[in-house]
Amino acid sequence: MTEMSYDKPLPAMEGLSKEFYDWCRQGELRFQRCKCCGTFRHVPREICAQCTSFDWEWVRSSGKGTIFTWTVVARALHPAFGDAAPYAPVVVEMEEGVRVLTQMVDCPPEELKIGMPVQVNFKAVTADVTLPYFRRA
Ligand SMILES: [Zn+2]
Repeated sequence: MTEMSYDKPLPAMEGLSKEFYDWCRQGELRFQRCKCCGTFRHVPREICAQCTSFDWEWVRSSGKGTIFTWTVVARALHPAFGDAAPYAPVVVEMEEGVRVLTQMVDCPPEELKIGMPVQVNFKAVTADVTLPYFRRA
């Protein structure tokens, strides 16, 4: 995957989403943490679902987690993913407690296991967008 060949949909580069991906571009996985109750959250949003506070900060993640679940896509629903099928969207549960929808870079679907330790592995897909993928820890 090179910068010029990435033809899949990209995240919205605006607001809190842009802030999240700007951290990724710097090689840092960060999640919002509520300054009132300490609860982490992802995907980025303005308000804490635990205590309704608007007061929060970006906190650097350890980048470590475990596989919570996955599925295997045999027939892509978006044409840009057609050549990638079969592939496995994976949900990683981070040490901070939040879950991230992602993909593995080094593990074929048949080798995935619930609870498998994983580590973030950034990949620049365009000049502006770096995505957090994962690899075996
Ligand atoms: Zn809170």
